Amino acid sequence: MPASRRTLFVTTALPYANGPFHIGHIMEYIQADIWVRHRRMRGDDVHFVSADDAHGAPIMLKAEGLGVTPQALVARIAATRPKHLDGFLVSFDHWHSTDSPENVELVQDIYRRLDAAGLVATRTIEQFYDPVKGMFLPDRYIKGTCPKCGAKDQYGDACENCSSTYAPTDLVDPYSTLTGAKPELRHSEHLFFRISAPEVVAFLERWTAEPSPGQALQPEVLNKIREWLGGGESGAAGKLADWDISRDAPYFGIPVPGHPGKYFYVWLDAPIGYLASLKAHLRGRGIDFETFLGRDDVEQIHFIGKDIIYFHTLFWPAVLRFAGKPYRVPDNVHVHGFITFSGEKMSKSRGTGISPDVYLDLGLDPEWLRYYLAAKLNDRVEDLDFNPDDFVARVNADLVGKYVNIASRAATFITRHFDGRLAYSDDERRHLVEGAVGAATLAVERYQARQYSQVVREAMAIADRVNEAFDDAKPWLLAKEPARHTELQAVCSRAIFGFKLISVLLAPILPATASRVARELFGLDRDFAWSDAGELPARISPYRHLMTRIDPRQVDALIEGPKAAEPGAVPPPAQTSAAPAAPAAATAPSESGSAAGGAPTVAIDDFAKIDLRIARIVAAESVEGADKLLKLTLDVGEGRHRTVFAGIKAAYDPATLVGRLTPMVANLAARKMKFGLSEGMVLAASGEGPGLYLLAPDDGAQPGMRVK
Ligand SMILES: [Zn+2]
Repeated sequence: MPASRRTLFVTTALPYANGPFHIGHIMEYIQADIWVRHRRMRGDDVHFVSADDAHGAPIMLKAEGLGVTPQALVARIAATRPKHLDGFLVSFDHWHSTDSPENVELVQDIYRRLDAAGLVATRTIEQFYDPVKGMFLPDRYIKGTCPKCGAKDQYGDACENCSSTYAPTDLVDPYSTLTGAKPELRHSEHLFFRISAPEVVAFLERWTAEPSPGQALQPEVLNKIREWLGGGESGAAGKLADWDISRDAPYFGIPVPGHPGKYFYVWLDAPIGYLASLKAHLRGRGIDFETFLGRDDVEQIHFIGKDIIYFHTLFWPAVLRFAGKPYRVPDNVHVHGFITFSGEKMSKSRGTGISPDVYLDLGLDPEWLRYYLAAKLNDRVEDLDFNPDDFVARVNADLVGKYVNIASRAATFITRHFDGRLAYSDDERRHLVEGAVGAATLAVERYQARQYSQVVREAMAIADRVNEAFDDAKPWLLAKEPARHTELQAVCSRAIFGFKLISVLLAPILPATASRVARELFGLDRDFAWSDAGELPARISPYRHLMTRIDPRQVDALIEGPKAAEPGAVPPPAQTSAAPAAPAAATAPSESGSAAGGAPTVAIDDFAKIDLRIARIVAAESVEGADKLLKLTLDVGEGRHRTVFAGIKAAYDPATLVGRLTPMVANLAARKMKFGLSEGMVLAASGEGPGLYLLAPDDGAQPGMRVK
């Protein structure tokens, strides 16, 4: 095995800090973590970091809606990170935030260097401005009537009805989704990074062809880049548009030096957050940041999803290259596809998908998921499908049926008859060690190339051979004949050695199990190193239970978890008392005559059937032809919005409701009304007299939280 020790700076994409991790984040972290753990086992010096992506208009506006500062919102989200990172055994060395002093310093430094290099241009642009809110509107906050088909309430970039795309300024009757106001076109000076400058394009053509000596981008990634760079047959580079890197106040971001009221666009400061995180991490280790970055032997590797290739293979290397030393360009960018669920896009609203939160809350073993993902991950930019039946079958058949099974059977004989001692004949020693070293060397290449599915396949082939040889020797018969105990000891020793080899090969994927095997079974005072694969163990301790099978019912619970919150999953409504008279019913005292003047007593199970969730009112408007109703657009943290018609018009001016949080009944059967579909119900208090009062959660509640 090559002895050269590599120094690696490895990152994962920064998650946007407006909500908890979803399964796509976890998949990426597991992919990167496996790679990093394998390099650490080889003795490399690895610095594996990430951070929360904290800036930008969405977080600013969300915080405003919640009545907190953006910093408080980001801190709240950051507090949820350890549960998932620790829970799925992701071994980051450091987790940081882009809203940090390190990032401010680095972003401003890099900007000044780009400016000094003549690569920043100032241009005046025309942009929609919300006069009520007093801010320029990002495209996603503008809606209007489609200029092509006339469909109402379409986003500023594309029509969901006819799929045509256009600029926000093409919309008929545009309005701000923040206030409903008609936006005005206003001029503003923006700063642009001149990525179209000839020297930048020339650099990008070189870098994308060979990011560092001997390294190559994935072919699918390279194809995409060729489209953007406009090379190829036409030969005409320069298709790249200069990159707008500034935003006007109010904005939650990093101020642009020398330009009061201007902030850096979040996408400029987010990747620099990789460096900010590294800097904070190195400080903790007493390593100088600039010296480290300036070293020739450091490798900088980014793991990202296929949706952010553009930023990471064009903007990011160009920004780093032209900022100059000590900044260094990435040595490679490893791109993965998305995770799908039984062949469909993961979607909370359709009840397809798995939540990392629910997975951990149900007590499912994180190594089951790590193993399943590893068994499907490779170096291609293709989507990975999570299929619940396949998940159960693979984990139970491979991990429990093949792998753990070897140790549980062979160790029992060794402990009972040989007091834990293992023995090998002289002939087979060399043979066993050579075979193991060969398998371990191959696995190094597989891991390096992110061919985890190959590692898994080859490890399971070894497990098959070990189990077969063990069964063929019929150790249970040998055990009955004392004269053949030498043979029994040899058979079991070979099996244990095979088990050890597989444990080392799978250690990056199953770190917790491998650690237990190393310490409990083989008596090491440390975790496995890669070189342990070729070491013949002399003895073992008694076997202790290592891993349980998945009960398919656990997976049912995992899948049904998010589904239960959806109106679609509720049986069709019976035309009975369950349907309220008005969509937003004040829970008025009933006339049942119960002593307290309230409704009859219900069991806790009955109450638990009602899925109450915190919703944020994204938009509120009057409904033409309905004098009591307001049409509310609600965010219940599902990645889509719901419409609910509520009979609260008498009590509330719609404009004052936007941004408020209120509880809603989330699993009420959707109800077709004259004005549209109502997907749930908000709650209001009322008494004998006039007056309706919406409920509000205490500070800290967030859209999607369950009320119970
Ligand atoms: Zn249209």
